[in-house]
Amino acid sequence: MGKTISEKILSAHSLPSGRRRTCQLPIGIGVDAYAGDLVVAGIDVAMVQDGTGPLTIQEFQKLGKSKVFNPSRTVLFLDHAAPSPRKELSNAHSILRNFASQTGSKLCDVGSGVCHQILAENYVNPGEILIGADSHTCTAGALGAFATGMGSTDVAVGIALGKTWFKVPQTFRVNFEGKLAKGVYPKDLILRFIGKIGADGATYKALEFTGETVEKMSMAERFTLTNMSVEAGAKTGLIATDAKTEKFLRQQGRGRKFRIIKPDKDAIYEKNFEVDASDVAPLIAAPHSADNVKTVEEVAGKKLDQVFIGTCTNGRFEDLQITAKILKGRKKHPNTRLIISPASRAVYLQALKKGIIEILVSAGATIFPPGCAACGGVHGGILGDGEVCLSTQNRNFKGRMGNPDAEIYLSSPATAAISAIKGKIADPREVLK
Ligand code: SF4
Repeated sequence: MGKTISEKILSAHSLPSGRRRTCQLPIGIGVDAYAGDLVVAGIDVAMVQDGTGPLTIQEFQKLGKSKVFNPSRTVLFLDHAAPSPRKELSNAHSILRNFASQTGSKLCDVGSGVCHQILAENYVNPGEILIGADSHTCTAGALGAFATGMGSTDVAVGIALGKTWFKVPQTFRVNFEGKLAKGVYPKDLILRFIGKIGADGATYKALEFTGETVEKMSMAERFTLTNMSVEAGAKTGLIATDAKTEKFLRQQGRGRKFRIIKPDKDAIYEKNFEVDASDVAPLIAAPHSADNVKTVEEVAGKKLDQVFIGTCTNGRFEDLQITAKILKGRKKHPNTRLIISPASRAVYLQALKKGIIEILVSAGATIFPPGCAACGGVHGGILGDGEVCLSTQNRNFKGRMGNPDAEIYLSSPATAAISAIKGKIADPREVLK
């Protein structure tokens, strides 16, 4: 019986009960695992961030362990509150720094960037399993990896033992065909899908994104799709590897880690979705859920106090490039704050070298250090009562940006950029004709 990508990766990593994983298993070795099976599987990479890390470390210590399963692939990120705005968060940072120095784990300190971007740039390879104490760990699925978020306790056990248990998810195949129209981006595409299926429409499923539209996307664009899989409730989102994956890995100095990861032709999917990408318009998720999707036209004119461009969803170089293209020679609206945060130091440097940061700053943007910035409502960019923000992030729950009495709309960077100029929600096709 054929396997989906998730079934292949979990099969290859599955371990007979009780066996401790000591080396990397190549694809094809392991116990056959199909949707619905419970497997104990070796993991390749484990991560925590500054919000979830202290509890993970506490749970790890309760296990009586002092060594992590693989120090070079246990990664701690200081990104959610970076730099720290309060002493309590500074103390949380110290816990992670101390743990890194005691165990030899990798530390990505303040200013390195958002965990999911750095994991993609430096740590995760096709066919691997990544577990993370953060819900958007699924982002790395664009590299043909099984990447999923877990609770702090589960990640603590994974870090201690190098293995964890999974219920193999059923897979939904989401097939995008057709060319995206001018002014329409993968963010619009994934919002279209989430709007149709609902915020819990894919609970504990794996989403496999396929089709001509995905094949033509850059890696940056593919990461936007997999990043938002969890907004439909999915366990993970995956994309088969191809020449673009290989090129990306080569650019990151990991070309030798490339391998073909794809589903079998006779893989069994629980559901198949067909989406005509050429039919998608610029979209917005309105408050207070990512599945409350409307066309930009429906909400155009909504006044904005703040626009935020960045995050693990849309803070990559290509996103800043689109933003700069729209902002070049223009100014943000005087009544609208514009905050921009590159997703990683590498993205920031590339944007600096290409003159993009100069364009953004000249347009009136405030550049935040690489990290989560305003996304989680922990620091930098917290909204006032009754304020309205348009953000390129992935979530707009009540209180997400630090104030339950504020409203958050979600969009692509292009829609965010033109809206920052107008001071109200606007259609990017106005300037991208
Ligand atoms: Fe979470 Fe936002 Fe940070 Fe991404 S950028 S990891 S969604 S807080």
